[in-house]
Amino acid sequence: MTTSPTEAAGGAATGSEAPGAILTIDLAAVAANYRLLRDRLGGSECAACVKGDAYGVGMAAVSRTLASAGCRTFFVATVDEGLALRRLLPEAAVYALNGIAAGGARAAAASGLRPVLNSLGDIEIWSGLSGRPPAALHIDTGLNRLGLAPKDVALLAREPARLARLSLPLVISHLTCADEPANALNEQQRLAFVAAAGALRPPGQSRPLLSLAASSGIFLGPSYYFDLARPGASLLGLSPNLDLPNPMAPAVRLEAAILQVRDLAVGESVGYGASWRATRPTRTATVAVGYADGYFRALGGRGSAWVGGHRLPVLGRVSMDLVTLDVTDAPAGLVHPGAFVELIGSHDDADGVAARAGTIGYELLTRLGPRLHRRYLGATILETSDGGLL
Ligand SMILES: *Cc1c(COP(=O)(O)O)cnc(C)c1O
Repeated sequence: MTTSPTEAAGGAATGSEAPGAILTIDLAAVAANYRLLRDRLGGSECAACVKGDAYGVGMAAVSRTLASAGCRTFFVATVDEGLALRRLLPEAAVYALNGIAAGGARAAAASGLRPVLNSLGDIEIWSGLSGRPPAALHIDTGLNRLGLAPKDVALLAREPARLARLSLPLVISHLTCADEPANALNEQQRLAFVAAAGALRPPGQSRPLLSLAASSGIFLGPSYYFDLARPGASLLGLSPNLDLPNPMAPAVRLEAAILQVRDLAVGESVGYGASWRATRPTRTATVAVGYADGYFRALGGRGSAWVGGHRLPVLGRVSMDLVTLDVTDAPAGLVHPGAFVELIGSHDDADGVAARAGTIGYELLTRLGPRLHRRYLGATILETSDGGLL
């Protein structure tokens, strides 16, 4: 990521107003992360999870990038997300993890969307459609969130005819503690998944593909690969295991423009509640980002920005639209109105910033706000289904 943010500010999609905050998504890094996971998976398929607008960074750009890197199977959460992705990538298999409501089944099937069937009720709904449209089956092996409970699996094993009107190319389960390699639940769930999947024999069908691992599960080793893995967060550079060095390339950077620089005397305070007070003569810079942009209020007094390798601590509270930084120790030439500072990026990645706010990178990314100028780097030019270019 080499383009200077100052150049990008004028070129951002929303036009030429005063520079604010810029979110840069490096699609070349997304593609590199996909290839790294795919190579690690060897003969198993690497699908991609792009729910929540690809974790807040843009489903269209991320999905097209992944498709051009060879990804053929995608997971989203909702039917609406799935319908949008089917329109973008008509060739791809798209699974909706949250399942299907009776009212939407026919439309979903007509557009080729594949629901993940999470209950006996879901199975009944999807079995009522003509033409046996494909779907996935979700076996709950301990997360106790969605999916067929052990008693449901036992019932389906006793009465396989309940699956007779389905076409099931895929059976999934989801791990509870995949980011803790030593946790015994991982192996318990893996064995439960093998047993349950083996007990289900949809009459007259070839063996479905099996899928257990998301990002962290891939790093538990080959016995967790099965036929298909479905990473999401790691494709965007989040670490699959926060206790180990991150093998993924960072794909997200947040920068904000300095609006004002001030010099404070000892005893003066900064921000709402006067929660920070100068104990030395302090130069401050106020930048154009706040909690409305997803820069969490919890980062008040805890977060930092960076400029030219210099750390700029957040002073006092984070406001809705502004953050004030201590720039006393940074070279004056780098901290002037219009200059950009980095809040998420090479010095402090999304996992690190999130940890300082008491949360995880997943939440940080999905909360990045609509007001940010979004800039996509390294995009492959692809023709879209409607003839346009990305
Ligand atoms: C979110 C999700 C994924 C992707 O998880 P990551 O940790 O982001 O890789 C895969 N499968 C299911 C069922 C999910 O809910």
